[in-house]
Amino acid sequence: MNQSSLNRIVNAARTSTVRLTLSYLAIIMVMSIGFSIVFYNTSSHELGRRFPPPAFLNTIPDRTVHIYQLYVSSRVEEARTRLLLRLLLVNVSALLAGAFLSYVLARRTLQPIESAMEAQARFASDASHELRTPLAAIQAENEVALRNKHLSLERAKELLESNVDEVIRLRDLSDGLLRLAREDTHDLTMSTVSFSDVTNEAMNRILKAAQQKDITIEDRVDSTKAVGDSASIIQVLSVLLDNAVKYSPKSQTIVISSWTRNRKAYLSVTDRGIGIAKEHLPHIFDRFYRADSARSNRTAGYGLGLSIAYKIITQHGGTITVTSMPNQGSTFTICLPSAAS
Ligand code: ADP
Repeated sequence: MNQSSLNRIVNAARTSTVRLTLSYLAIIMVMSIGFSIVFYNTSSHELGRRFPPPAFLNTIPDRTVHIYQLYVSSRVEEARTRLLLRLLLVNVSALLAGAFLSYVLARRTLQPIESAMEAQARFASDASHELRTPLAAIQAENEVALRNKHLSLERAKELLESNVDEVIRLRDLSDGLLRLAREDTHDLTMSTVSFSDVTNEAMNRILKAAQQKDITIEDRVDSTKAVGDSASIIQVLSVLLDNAVKYSPKSQTIVISSWTRNRKAYLSVTDRGIGIAKEHLPHIFDRFYRADSARSNRTAGYGLGLSIAYKIITQHGGTITVTSMPNQGSTFTICLPSAAS
């Protein structure tokens, strides 16, 4: 995300915090002052009414009554002034404590909105950056070809093929972005999902890529069943298998296994590929994150597959974990609620 969009979000957040703090403070002060006014009026009225009690005045001589009344009035006035000062003190304290409390409350209220805004801005910025690179490549390739007055039919076909490849990659990228942008879980149709069925489907999808690298896929999936959305789980498994093929050398074996434990259904994909270094492991489920080895190997991908898989699995209330050693291989394991009764 560029600095100016970050600054804009920070400024918007500051302005909103100040506004919300002032609104909360206004509510607190209106209540505090209102209460003080009512309290003062009631108390002051009561003070004036009760003293001196008429029954008592009848028992003392007239001269003394006057002196007594003067004395009582001055005491009542004094009490009113003291009450006023105390209420003033209470309101000043309410103002100070209220300002602090309002600020804390405003920060708490705005924090999730701020994070969501930041995530959205980062997403838009990352996405446009990823889209721009292949588009620029297509544009450059086509412009060079257009300038070539003696462009052969063969070269033109090559160019079209390369353009089609790029367009397919762009379509995959936009599909992935759409899936990540959709926040709701309404698209999931929950049912009992047989791990062996979803494995077969996912294996069919990557069969060609595996054959091209002479990679064998060993299917050790048992009768484990989970509760989930079949199409989404196939998508997750396709990402894991696709990565296992992409990041394995030729003629390797990939193993898929499943098991049930403590009412949870597990499915794992193990490869003996390039593995992932320890420092990359915490980030591989982040959007657009690609470990150095993937970049330097120039393996096709945008770093979206695992973040989509993570999102799907967490939408199911499950987990996806990885263990990996560089040059030895990786195991990705998904855990979902089991459908076993
Ligand atoms: P992509 O594969 O398109 O780059 P992913 O989100 O699927 O994106 O994976 C993110 C990164 O995690 C990859 O770029 C790669 O560095 C690493 N990775 C994922 N799966 C494997 C694997 N099976 N073996 C080694 N590295 C992997």
